[in-house]
Amino acid sequence: MITRNTRPLFGKLILTGKIRAVTGLHIGGPEAELKIGGIDSFVIKDPIGIPYIPGSSLKGKLRDILERKRQAEDSNFKFDHQSGTQANPVYRHECMDKDEKEWQEVSLKCPVCRLFGKSRDSFNIPSRLIVRDSFLDQRSKEMLERIGSFTEVKGENTLDRITSAANPRFIERVPPDTVFNFEMVYNIESTEDLKEDMNNLSSALQVLEDDGIGGHVSRGYGKVSFEGIKVTAKKIEFYRTQEDRFIKEVEIGHPSNLKDRVQEIQIFFGS
Ligand SMILES: [Zn+2]
Repeated sequence: MITRNTRPLFGKLILTGKIRAVTGLHIGGPEAELKIGGIDSFVIKDPIGIPYIPGSSLKGKLRDILERKRQAEDSNFKFDHQSGTQANPVYRHECMDKDEKEWQEVSLKCPVCRLFGKSRDSFNIPSRLIVRDSFLDQRSKEMLERIGSFTEVKGENTLDRITSAANPRFIERVPPDTVFNFEMVYNIESTEDLKEDMNNLSSALQVLEDDGIGGHVSRGYGKVSFEGIKVTAKKIEFYRTQEDRFIKEVEIGHPSNLKDRVQEIQIFFGS
């Protein structure tokens, strides 16, 4: 029986790899930034001015994809949790608490809530998946440094449909072919769920490649590809002993290969 605070940790999967911006990428920075050089919309950058992909943007997009996949599979799947601001509400899925006895069981059966977390109502479940910020790959950094700018500015014309007046906006973006390093950490709390969670992550990453990330996706921005993924599986014993038998590296490459290799990982964890 599952009781409250029962969240064993059998180990961790560390997924690393590259995200390539196939088209220009615009992940917006803080709105309050001053307009400089006529730019209307800036990309998010670190304190020294180098663009990065926030883990929250990537995680939010993956969650959204998985929620929509679940909704297609299950008509009872609800999108009824309101977050965001009153003026700009955002609806997403979070399992509702039934009662104290059942809450964890229900949420841990839900592939969205157990992978991405739940903070609705009284009982939280922390996300099993940690998505770190993705920083520029060294080669991309050096290349852009030689060019003299980490970003480019593109004019986007929108027409007022009533008056036909053009309304040019200047949008900063990370140029195509820029590569970032990503890292995600998956906490293994149940070796039985491992396969389904990894299959869902594999699907979400593949959908994301055919969708996009950041702003202006419908106008061609934000197409990315995931490359050279590697999974480092660490049993919990590794953190105590540092012995090789408790760690295993699995080359994945493209996210679509994750489904084929997950059984190997599951066997390593003895399930
Ligand atoms: Zn849920």
